[in-house]
Amino acid sequence: MTARKVELIEVSPRDGLQNEPEILSTETKVELINRAVAAGVRRIEVASFVNPKRVPQMADAEAVMAALPARDDVTYIGLALNMRGLDRAIAAGCREVNYAVVASDIFSERNQGTSIEQAIAVGADMIKTAHDAGVRFTITFSAVFGCPFQGEVRPERVLEVVAAGLAAGPDEIALADTIGVAVPSQVADMFTEVAKLAPGARLRGHFHNTRNTGIANAYAAIEAGAAALDASIGGFGGCPFAPAATGNVPSEDLVYMLNRMGIETGVDIDGLIETADWLGQQLGKPGPAMLGRAGNFPPAELLGN
Ligand code: ZN
Repeated sequence: MTARKVELIEVSPRDGLQNEPEILSTETKVELINRAVAAGVRRIEVASFVNPKRVPQMADAEAVMAALPARDDVTYIGLALNMRGLDRAIAAGCREVNYAVVASDIFSERNQGTSIEQAIAVGADMIKTAHDAGVRFTITFSAVFGCPFQGEVRPERVLEVVAAGLAAGPDEIALADTIGVAVPSQVADMFTEVAKLAPGARLRGHFHNTRNTGIANAYAAIEAGAAALDASIGGFGGCPFAPAATGNVPSEDLVYMLNRMGIETGVDIDGLIETADWLGQQLGKPGPAMLGRAGNFPPAELLGN
């Protein structure tokens, strides 16, 4: 059953910018985050606490956090991939951390240099530390719908991995189409199966529009009960395994669809469009999102009639 409310988690400052060749200043990143919050976003992934040598776009994670206004009603999320990253995120003041576990064995071994079981064990330790510090913890299972190294990922294996991750006690789990290969039928099946594994758990979807199926996948996820969706203003970002690809599902396109379906997000669509336009100027190119080009519907001038 479709929820009448879906939470939008803005990921442009992290997933969006991380895949852009242009590195924005700390000040510009902070303005992006403040603009998203002004548009009504209440959970936002602001930085990645990873090795700055590996991800130079995220080297100023601490400085970004330090410059953000403290607000009780806004959650700034930090991505952390190990205990050191978690410690940095907590020290920087993040009240929520997102940790990724790859659901493909070959991807995990080859790209992360660890087995899935080991990654879950690390996550379990991180969850204890996070909870001791009063920090909420999400596990994002990545490459759930396809892997750049092994191709199809067996759904049975994904469910085994998700079950093991759930046992570690995260506050939320996300299923991610990291490389943008999923199709809606696959998304519907996987969210339905995961919901059976974890009755009552908050499920979150993370889709990339790499092959133009992102918004259809987002729809399939909410129809199958997802409570939250990640999205990126302007659709900025990319895919590390498809260099010419577009980014995450665009926030404004997603909110447009949800609005017209009568599903509330609490986010102002005009604020998103303006911010996408502004971000395009900062990055020197327009984002792939469609709504800013076509305009909202019905147009504002007809709404008062
Ligand atoms: Zn992503």
